This record gives sequence, C-alpha cells and structure tokens, in this order.
Amino acid sequence: MSFDVDAVRAEFPALALTVGEGSRVRPLIYLDSAATSQKPQRVLDAYIDFYRHSNANVHRGAHLLATRATDAYEGAREIVRRMVGARYTSEIVFTRGTTESINLVANTLGGQVRAGDNIVITALEHHSNLVPWQMLCKRMGASLRVAPVEDDGTLSVARFAELVDGRTRICAFSHVSNALGTVLPVAELVAVAREHGALTVVDGAQAMSHFAPNVQALGVDFYAFSGHKVFAPTGIGVLYGRRELLDAMPPWHGGGEMVDTVTFEETTWAPPPMRFEAGTPNFAGAFALGVALAWLEALDRPAVEAHERALVEAITERVAPIPGLRIIGTAPGKVGVLTFDIAGIHAHDIGTLLDQQGIAIRTGTHCTQPLLARFGLKATARASLALYNTLDDIERFGDALERASRMLR
Ligand code: PMP
Repeated sequence: MSFDVDAVRAEFPALALTVGEGSRVRPLIYLDSAATSQKPQRVLDAYIDFYRHSNANVHRGAHLLATRATDAYEGAREIVRRMVGARYTSEIVFTRGTTESINLVANTLGGQVRAGDNIVITALEHHSNLVPWQMLCKRMGASLRVAPVEDDGTLSVARFAELVDGRTRICAFSHVSNALGTVLPVAELVAVAREHGALTVVDGAQAMSHFAPNVQALGVDFYAFSGHKVFAPTGIGVLYGRRELLDAMPPWHGGGEMVDTVTFEETTWAPPPMRFEAGTPNFAGAFALGVALAWLEALDRPAVEAHERALVEAITERVAPIPGLRIIGTAPGKVGVLTFDIAGIHAHDIGTLLDQQGIAIRTGTHCTQPLLARFGLKATARASLALYNTLDDIERFGDALERASRMLR
C-alpha cells in the first residue's frame, strides 16, 4: 500500500472549492484542520443514509429501524474501541466532544479530590483541559499545578515530575498541542503519575487525525477526542475510560438511558457506558464517526505519517526566509501545526490578507491564552495541516504570506 494524496483529496468536496471570479478564480486552500477537519463524501453520505434508512431512537423499541439504529450506534462504538486499542466497548463513552469528555471526568472524579490535594496539568493545555480542572480545584480547595513548557515547545518529563507528589490526584495533559504541534511523551508522563498513584486524563483532540493512539500501551486512564477533528461531523466525541474506573464512577447527567431502576425515592445506575450517556445520544453522528475512523484505519498509516512529516518539513523551510517571522513551537517530531508571529505585524492582518488570496488559516489565541502569554504574545497566526494537504498548498501559502508580509510592512 501507499498513500495517494490526490485520490484522498478527491474524496473531500470542500477541498475542490474555489474563491474569486473570472480570471481571478483560484482554489481555496484549507490550512485550518486543527480547528476542524474537512469531511470526506463517504462520511456525508453515511450521515444522510442513516437518516434515510435507519433512523429511530437507539436502545428503545423492538422494531426494525430501532434495531438498525442501535446496531449502527454500537457498531461505531466497536470501531472506536479498535482505533484506540481499548479492551472493552464498555470503556467507550460517546459525548459531544473533547470538552464534554473532560468535563465529565472532572465532575465525576471530583469527589475524590479533597482540600489540600493537587491536580497537575501542563502549560500547553487548550482551555478545555485547563478550565474544568481549575473549576474543580476551586470547588474542592485543591491547587492546580502547571508543568512548564520549554522555549522550543517541548515538555520536560523531569520538570513535570517535580510537581507530582503524594497529594496529586489527577494529571491531565494533551497528547498533541493544538498551538505548538508538540507530541507529548504520554507513556513517560503516565509512568510519573502512576508512581504517585495519580490518575491520568489525556486530551487526544489533536492526536487522532495524525496517528492512532493505543490506550493500553500508553497506560492512560482516560483519553478524550472529538469527531469533528478526525473527518467526522461536529457534536460527537469520545471518552475512553478504564473499565474499573468507569464502573466505580457516579453519573454526571441524570435522565433517560443512564438508569437501571427508578422510583420517586431512589434510582440505580446503568453500567458504563450507558451510565454516562443520559438522554438521546447523537447516534447519527456516532455512526458517521465510525465511518470516518474506518476510512482512516484502512489507509496506509505509516505512509500517511511520512506524507505529513514531509509537509511539516516543507512548511517550516518555506517560511524560514520571511523577515521577522518566528515560529512558536519547534519541538522535534511535531505534527503539522505552524504557529507564527511576524515582528511588527498583527496576526489578524495576516489572516485577512491570506483570506483575500483564498488561504484559510486561523488567527487569535487558539484557546491557549496562558500558553501565548508564556511566549509573550496575545495573538498569533496558525496554519495547520492534515493528510489531504499538499506541497503545492504549502508553496501557495508561502507565496501569499510573503506578499502579505511585504504589504503590511
Ligand atoms: N483540546 C485540544 C488540544 C483542542 O485542539 C481542542 C479543539 N480546538 C479541544 C481540546 C476542544 O475540542 P472540542 O471543542 O471539540 O470539544
């Protein structure tokens, strides 16, 4: 097998969009996949087909459509289990996305955190792996400790380990940084946490589209990700949780589906994963997520990774000669995220000029305000890559960025 980027691109209708009119028509170049990925036609088709042929509420009602819907939903859970290397499907909880997954853990494990305990995160966390822990610490009288990030965007395991002690209940960190592209040494960080009896919560939002994690090999307790960043629709995400932990955790939301027996006085909980899926779940989204993951799984992943590595090298080289340009995050082995600052030029102006040339990048804080503050910045520009980007995209981006920085200077 190998990786044919043109064949893959042909599956994504949004990648064929153009901007401008007449002689000024040009392709739209999408360099914002870290915010959300584009979707292949087969995922869009699966979503519509589900509503056409299989729509009924899951787990209720013994009729043909209810059976089809339940099979589709539970089939997706099995695909997710396989993709993350979990042991049991009951370890896979469907949520709205990474943010909800992390809040679920923060709220259900919260009872184990006492005054005087601490939670350790890192300085490169997205707000969604920071704010829920900060809220929990404030509620319980615990302290939030933040492992520093080095100038190149790497995370030192030794400096992280200095913060973890016998009062650490939870260590929460990203697998991949959305602002720096850094791939964190998850297994080593897990080993540190375990040594002190702390649980680990890994934010995998940016990892899933680049490589398949293996939660057992990494040894993580919880792993969260969002469908929309991995070629699936919005509004569906996953929380993996180790079975013994989920079994012992109380529910977060109450309602239908998450119960065993209910009286006016007392309710008993359904076992996981249902205990954590109160109400009608996004079963069409889950089905489409399964289709997206199965598509990804069938690609030659090592070839895809080699393609993505070549893109990272190319974009780094392409922007290097631009006067005043500083790349934020140069960790070895980083994924395709290019966050940059150009001295004397506001990031939003760069974004606007690139947009006028049909190039979509993101500007702002990337939901990592404390991280940008650490680098002395309030806003940056970020071009982020996915497997469907090409060397040609990078060339056009480089040319446009050169033009923009000349104009703004
Ligand atoms: N963590 C990281 C590293 C992210 O990049 C994102 C999305 N930008 C999130 C968490 C939150 O994901 P969602 O908004 O899909 O819940």
